[in-house]
Amino acid sequence: MTIWNLGSINADHVYAVPHIPTPGETLAATGLSRGLGGKGANMSVAAARAGARVAHLGAVGEDGGWMVERLEAYGVDCAHVQRRGGPSGHAIITVDAKGENAITLWPGANRDIEPEAVKQALQGAAPGDLFVTQNETALQPEAAAQARAKGLTVAYAAAPFDAEAVRAVRPHLDLLVLNEIEARQLEQALNSSIESLGIAHVVVTLGARGCDWIEAGSGTRHHVDAPRVEAVDTTGAGDTFTGYLLAGLSQGLAMEAALNRATRAAALKVGRPGAADAIPTAEEVERAVF
Ligand code: AMP
Repeated sequence: MTIWNLGSINADHVYAVPHIPTPGETLAATGLSRGLGGKGANMSVAAARAGARVAHLGAVGEDGGWMVERLEAYGVDCAHVQRRGGPSGHAIITVDAKGENAITLWPGANRDIEPEAVKQALQGAAPGDLFVTQNETALQPEAAAQARAKGLTVAYAAAPFDAEAVRAVRPHLDLLVLNEIEARQLEQALNSSIESLGIAHVVVTLGARGCDWIEAGSGTRHHVDAPRVEAVDTTGAGDTFTGYLLAGLSQGLAMEAALNRATRAAALKVGRPGAADAIPTAEEVERAVF
């Protein structure tokens, strides 16, 4: 079973600064690191680290060769990652001594994904495969509709929140994952409670408090606690969670077991700095003692 992930690929440029620069100020950074990020790439890496088979649908620009190589090194199939002109998606992230950050994001090639190529790639998917997407690329509704029509299970992380995108994707969903803030935004935008969206499974992540899973059929709400950890960097925690959750489902785990492993994986990520490169392997998750 393959997870098809239509998602962003970003280069994260992280600058350590004494404080976040104020308007007009020029400030020397005390450190620089470059890593792989973007919600889509993080999710693909998480699912691959969990041991699932993952095919990424996306695009990088002229400067993105190293990101494709890194995704492949993590075991992500990049045969359908397109090479476009211009820059790749990237984030300029300044982090101050207290860990507060400010982020400037440029979507770059993520907004230039060729629709026809995504359509063709999805024709190679098999009924029973999983499809997942987020809101840092275009084409979510079209791709989700195609995947559903082909008999795939369709999952969606409504992040960053976009009311238009949620409205368009909702009819095609089997599984929706969102954090508490996004859940509130969605209830307002659709004027409907999470419980009455008509989506088979909704998972609301609650940061250090873990997550809730709502089954539409019975209206039952289950809660899964997160392990206690010293939070170092929460970047990519939600993506790690969703990638692991989907991997678990693709590997035949029941929802409760998949959620348990996802919260353990996300907690380990929270204890490490970085995005995709800080996502733990299934073995690390298995061995972890909290
Ligand atoms: P969030 O997007 O903040 O809701 O986080 C997504 C998931 O990451 C949560 O459901 C938790 O499993 C995990 N997580 C986030 N923050 C923490 C934390 N401080 N401690 C442990 N787990 C966390």
